[in-house]
Amino acid sequence: MLKGTKLYSILYQKCPRCHEGELFDERNPYKLKKIFDMPERCEKCNQLYQLEPSFFYGAMYVNYGLTVAIAVAVFVAMIVLGSGWELHHYLIGIILGIFILAPLTFRLGRAIWINFFIKYDPDALKKPGNKKGA
Ligand SMILES: [Zn+2]
Repeated sequence: MLKGTKLYSILYQKCPRCHEGELFDERNPYKLKKIFDMPERCEKCNQLYQLEPSFFYGAMYVNYGLTVAIAVAVFVAMIVLGSGWELHHYLIGIILGIFILAPLTFRLGRAIWINFFIKYDPDALKKPGNKKGA
């Protein structure tokens, strides 16, 4: 249903160009040994993922924004759900939330970042020359 939107590519961790190929080697972000492993190119449309050296350093800024959003969300949730908590309780809750969700935010950060630069192309799989080289 979302296919063709950037949201689809981000949420399902798919190639931003064809929305078919996988963005990461391992789909489960909590398999931490493989969390950084990405194919060099999309297996379906041959889109290069690392557009330039150190391309994904920029994803750290996205990741930072997501982490701040999680911290705020945990803080607000704790205020709504509980009462009489002290400052250190909030800090522990926020740190736990950030740590538990870190693999997800890492992956989402990269997926959002690459979607800034690569547009969806519904004909990506039909175009000649996309299968190898380029
Ligand atoms: Zn692709």
